[in-house]
Amino acid sequence: MSARVMREKELRLAAKCLLCRKPFGASGLPVFYRVRIERFAVDMAATRRQSGLEMMLGGHVALAQIMGPDDVMAKGLGAVEFTVCETCSTDLDRARLPIAALEELAQEEADAKSGSIAASDPGDEQEAGKC
Ligand SMILES: [Zn+2]
Repeated sequence: MSARVMREKELRLAAKCLLCRKPFGASGLPVFYRVRIERFAVDMAATRRQSGLEMMLGGHVALAQIMGPDDVMAKGLGAVEFTVCETCSTDLDRARLPIAALEELAQEEADAKSGSIAASDPGDEQEAGKC
Protein backbone atom coordinates (compact mmCIF):
# COMPACT_ATOMS: atom_id res chain seq x y z
CA MET A 1 0.00 0.00 0.00
CA SER A 2 1.50 3.28 -1.07
CA ALA A 3 1.33 6.23 1.26
CA ARG A 4 -0.89 8.98 -0.02
CA VAL A 5 0.07 12.60 0.50
CA MET A 6 -2.10 15.70 0.83
CA ARG A 7 -1.06 19.21 -0.06
CA GLU A 8 -2.34 22.26 1.82
CA LYS A 9 -5.48 22.88 -0.25
CA GLU A 10 -6.59 19.22 -0.11
CA LEU A 11 -5.89 19.04 3.63
CA ARG A 12 -7.91 22.19 4.19
CA LEU A 13 -10.88 20.65 2.32
CA ALA A 14 -10.54 17.44 4.37
CA ALA A 15 -10.08 19.12 7.74
CA LYS A 16 -13.61 18.76 9.12
CA CYS A 17 -14.77 15.50 10.70
CA LEU A 18 -17.98 14.26 9.10
CA LEU A 19 -19.36 12.94 12.39
CA CYS A 20 -18.68 15.69 14.95
CA ARG A 21 -18.31 18.54 12.42
CA LYS A 22 -15.14 19.75 14.20
CA PRO A 23 -11.67 20.10 12.63
CA PHE A 24 -9.77 16.83 13.14
CA GLY A 25 -7.19 18.74 15.21
CA ALA A 26 -9.83 19.27 17.93
CA SER A 27 -9.21 15.66 18.96
CA GLY A 28 -5.76 16.69 20.18
CA LEU A 29 -3.96 14.39 17.76
CA PRO A 30 -2.66 15.50 14.35
CA VAL A 31 -3.93 12.36 12.63
CA PHE A 32 -7.25 11.48 11.04
CA TYR A 33 -8.98 8.85 8.91
CA ARG A 34 -9.91 9.50 5.31
CA VAL A 35 -12.71 7.07 4.49
CA ARG A 36 -13.93 6.26 0.99
CA ILE A 37 -17.24 4.50 0.38
CA GLU A 38 -17.97 3.12 -3.07
CA ARG A 39 -21.31 1.57 -3.98
CA PHE A 40 -21.54 -1.01 -6.76
CA ALA A 41 -24.33 -2.82 -8.61
CA VAL A 42 -23.65 -6.33 -9.91
CA ASP A 43 -24.49 -6.85 -13.59
CA MET A 44 -26.68 -9.94 -13.24
CA ALA A 45 -26.68 -10.70 -16.99
CA ALA A 46 -22.86 -10.73 -17.06
CA THR A 47 -22.87 -12.89 -13.93
CA ARG A 48 -25.24 -15.40 -15.56
CA ARG A 49 -23.07 -15.53 -18.70
CA GLN A 50 -19.96 -16.20 -16.62
CA SER A 51 -21.74 -18.85 -14.56
CA GLY A 52 -22.99 -20.50 -17.76
CA LEU A 53 -19.46 -20.64 -19.14
CA GLU A 54 -18.24 -22.15 -15.88
CA MET A 55 -20.92 -24.85 -16.11
CA MET A 56 -20.03 -25.55 -19.77
CA LEU A 57 -16.41 -26.03 -18.70
CA GLY A 58 -17.32 -28.54 -16.03
CA GLY A 59 -17.32 -26.12 -13.14
CA HIS A 60 -13.73 -24.96 -13.62
CA VAL A 61 -13.86 -21.35 -12.42
CA ALA A 62 -10.21 -20.59 -13.20
CA LEU A 63 -10.56 -21.98 -16.73
CA ALA A 64 -13.73 -19.94 -17.30
CA GLN A 65 -11.90 -16.81 -16.12
CA ILE A 66 -9.19 -17.40 -18.72
CA MET A 67 -11.56 -18.45 -21.51
CA GLY A 68 -14.26 -15.87 -20.78
CA PRO A 69 -14.64 -12.35 -22.17
CA ASP A 70 -13.59 -10.72 -18.86
CA ASP A 71 -16.86 -8.78 -18.81
CA VAL A 72 -17.59 -5.94 -16.45
CA MET A 73 -19.31 -7.70 -13.56
CA ALA A 74 -20.17 -4.71 -11.38
CA LYS A 75 -20.59 -1.03 -12.07
CA GLY A 76 -19.89 1.78 -9.64
CA LEU A 77 -22.90 3.82 -8.57
CA GLY A 78 -20.83 6.54 -6.98
CA ALA A 79 -18.28 7.22 -4.31
CA VAL A 80 -17.91 9.56 -1.39
CA GLU A 81 -14.86 10.39 0.69
CA PHE A 82 -14.83 11.93 4.13
CA THR A 83 -12.75 12.59 7.21
CA VAL A 84 -13.21 11.03 10.63
CA CYS A 85 -11.25 12.42 13.58
CA GLU A 86 -9.49 10.24 16.16
CA THR A 87 -12.16 10.91 18.78
CA CYS A 88 -15.04 9.82 16.54
CA SER A 89 -13.07 6.85 15.19
CA THR A 90 -13.31 5.19 18.59
CA ASP A 91 -16.71 6.54 19.65
CA LEU A 92 -19.01 3.52 19.64
CA ASP A 93 -22.20 5.56 19.19
CA ARG A 94 -20.84 7.26 16.07
CA ALA A 95 -19.02 4.19 14.79
CA ARG A 96 -22.31 2.27 14.68
CA LEU A 97 -23.78 4.39 11.89
CA PRO A 98 -24.76 2.22 8.93
CA ILE A 99 -22.66 2.61 5.79
CA ALA A 100 -25.68 4.04 3.93
CA ALA A 101 -26.08 6.75 6.58
CA LEU A 102 -22.37 7.60 6.37
CA GLU A 103 -22.65 7.78 2.58
CA GLU A 104 -25.64 10.11 2.82
CA LEU A 105 -23.92 12.38 5.35
CA ALA A 106 -20.79 12.50 3.19
CA GLN A 107 -22.83 13.26 0.06
CA GLU A 108 -24.59 16.15 1.84
CA GLU A 109 -21.18 17.43 2.92
CA ALA A 110 -19.79 17.09 -0.62
CA ASP A 111 -22.81 18.90 -2.07
CA ALA A 112 -22.38 21.73 0.43
CA LYS A 113 -18.66 21.96 -0.38
CA SER A 114 -19.20 21.90 -4.15
CA GLY A 115 -21.56 24.82 -3.72
CA SER A 116 -18.94 26.76 -1.80
CA ILE A 117 -16.15 25.68 -4.18
CA ALA A 118 -18.19 26.79 -7.20
CA ALA A 119 -18.70 30.15 -5.52
CA SER A 120 -14.99 30.48 -4.80
CA ASP A 121 -13.74 29.31 -8.22
CA PRO A 122 -13.83 32.74 -9.86
CA GLY A 123 -11.69 34.06 -7.00
CA ASP A 124 -9.19 31.26 -7.49
CA GLU A 125 -8.98 32.06 -11.20
CA GLN A 126 -8.41 35.73 -10.41
CA GLU A 127 -5.62 34.80 -8.00
CA ALA A 128 -4.07 32.54 -10.64
CA GLY A 129 -4.24 35.39 -13.12
CA LYS A 130 -2.32 37.66 -10.75
CA CYS A 131 0.72 35.36 -10.68
ZN1 LIG B 1 -15.06 13.78 14.93
